[in-house]
Amino acid sequence: MGEQVVTDSTANGKAAQQENLNVLQSTQTVIEEALTKMGYPPVMNELLKEPMRMFTVRIPIRMDNGETKIFTGYRAQHNDAVGPTKGGVRFHPDVTEDEVKALSIWMSLKCGIVDLPYGGGKGGIICDPREMSFRELEALSRGYVRAVSQIVGPTKDIPAPDVFTNSQIMAWMMDEYSRIREHDSPGFITGKPIVLGGSAGRETATAKGVTIMIEEAAKKKGIELQGARVVVQGFGNAGSFLAKFMHEAGAKVVAISDAYGALHDEAGLDIEYLLDRRDSFGTVTKLFTNTITNKELLELDCDILVPAAIENQITASNAHNIKARIVVEAANGPTTLEATKILTERDILLVPDVLASSGGVTVSYFEWVQNNQGYYWSEEEVDSRLREMLVRAFNNVYNTHVSRGVNMRLAAYMVGVRKMAEASRFRGWV
Ligand code: NAD
Repeated sequence: MGEQVVTDSTANGKAAQQENLNVLQSTQTVIEEALTKMGYPPVMNELLKEPMRMFTVRIPIRMDNGETKIFTGYRAQHNDAVGPTKGGVRFHPDVTEDEVKALSIWMSLKCGIVDLPYGGGKGGIICDPREMSFRELEALSRGYVRAVSQIVGPTKDIPAPDVFTNSQIMAWMMDEYSRIREHDSPGFITGKPIVLGGSAGRETATAKGVTIMIEEAAKKKGIELQGARVVVQGFGNAGSFLAKFMHEAGAKVVAISDAYGALHDEAGLDIEYLLDRRDSFGTVTKLFTNTITNKELLELDCDILVPAAIENQITASNAHNIKARIVVEAANGPTTLEATKILTERDILLVPDVLASSGGVTVSYFEWVQNNQGYYWSEEEVDSRLREMLVRAFNNVYNTHVSRGVNMRLAAYMVGVRKMAEASRFRGWV
């Protein structure tokens, strides 16, 4: 409190220009704050502010036109004091080293918050899968595994799907790894097709987790989900299933969006129809003419706002205009640190990304456990274990937020970093 409240649009623009939109630097700022708040010495921050290992690889691929193209890939392993590192592989033209590092740190925090026996990892390849053939994608997936095979494995570092990677890509990667090791290795990677050892409920896990977070946050705010007005930015894997679950829970999904625009209807959108029409990249608004912009969508009057698309969407320039009472970050990094402060001052309950989107890695953990046991669970069993772990995680973070008087993001970082810091200390590293 007591911060200057910026209200006019010119000032908002200036504030936004001054904001730090580098996700790695923002993450490091909050990690340091969390460790200091808990009384750890500066050397702990020195250890945890960067991944312990960062691998850069060059992957030559023979393209369909006969030319060879060299792709750059990364694998970051943030901290393996708790156990093997775990995290997805992203295929995207905008992948950067800093982004992969930040994403690996976020994975460590998610695993700490849900209390999984992992540290965080993340991978990425700079490429545009929308412009590649099936054969080229297979070659790139296999090439990546060959390039990183020395540092990954079921007890070292376990990859998973992320933006623009799916169960087919996981299947190719698992097959390549099994060939290199000369034995079947389903536990090397998660997010596989069910017939290759994938888990029931993995595809919808992130959205189910976000739904659980919304239910818990709504209880704290005294909001009934039945009839609550929900706005979802992004209609991909996370956003579209979430819209479906909200609709099934009796909430009114009044707006959704994709990269090209947003659809708004105060009476509630026909989610089943939109799900049926969206393409595999989460695009649906191109079929309509009466669209609004993503900027307008974020500022709509609603009870619950779920950014489920990309980074840096709620900033100092629009945080004052957000009308939702609860913001649940299904996407990674959608709200800047400055905007976090503004939302907190305005008494909007923010469920931060490292907590809100932890359903995916939790069911990935279940998949790995099932692979290690060779014994498979029903979807009901997966769902009930997921609910138990995520409700506990939400309450740990919420109680820390209240008892320590810190915002929800800092509270989540404090809960998330503690196990890693303790494990590093017991191992004698710090
Ligand atoms: P996706 O690629 O399936 O869908 C992304 C959606 O965002 C699409 O509808 C796309 O059109 C939209 N989008 C892209 N650029 C946009 C822009 N500039 N403005 C508005 N919308 C835009 O991705 P996803 O798997 O649904 O992931 C979405 C977010 O959730 C990402 O931040 C991701 O890191 C995070 N997340 C996803 C999972 C998961 O299991 N899918 C888990 C944890 C976190």
